[in-house]
Amino acid sequence: MAENLASTWRLREQRYQLIGNICKKCGAKHFPPRQVCTECRGTEFEPFQFNGQGELYSFTTLRSAPAGFEGYVPYSVGMIKLQEGPMVEAMLTDVDEEDLEIGTPMEMVTRKIRQEDGDRGLLVYGYKFRPKVS
Ligand SMILES: [Zn+2]
Repeated sequence: MAENLASTWRLREQRYQLIGNICKKCGAKHFPPRQVCTECRGTEFEPFQFNGQGELYSFTTLRSAPAGFEGYVPYSVGMIKLQEGPMVEAMLTDVDEEDLEIGTPMEMVTRKIRQEDGDRGLLVYGYKFRPKVS
């Protein structure tokens, strides 16, 4: 029981933070974490927490949505190039589509991702990116 709770909590932490890993052999950083290094094929890693800062590399705006996301249409999804190097794909928030520009400094925020239908009304949170507030 206690073990179950602990693993659930770990899962949550991963969802709220950008936890990837760093190759012990060549120092390449990966997100999401990998089993085999794309740079040197190394297989030994340590966890690495990204700082959630980066810049907008590309984006696209979706006008039809998969189940569970209907309430958000249209919404934008972007590729963010993290300061530490890797790319992460995430929903964009707190910004109008027409204000998005390649190269915009971005930061990670925790937001409601979607609301499950049904009686429980379960809220699902996760990370999104928004233009960096200076
Ligand atoms: Zn490596």
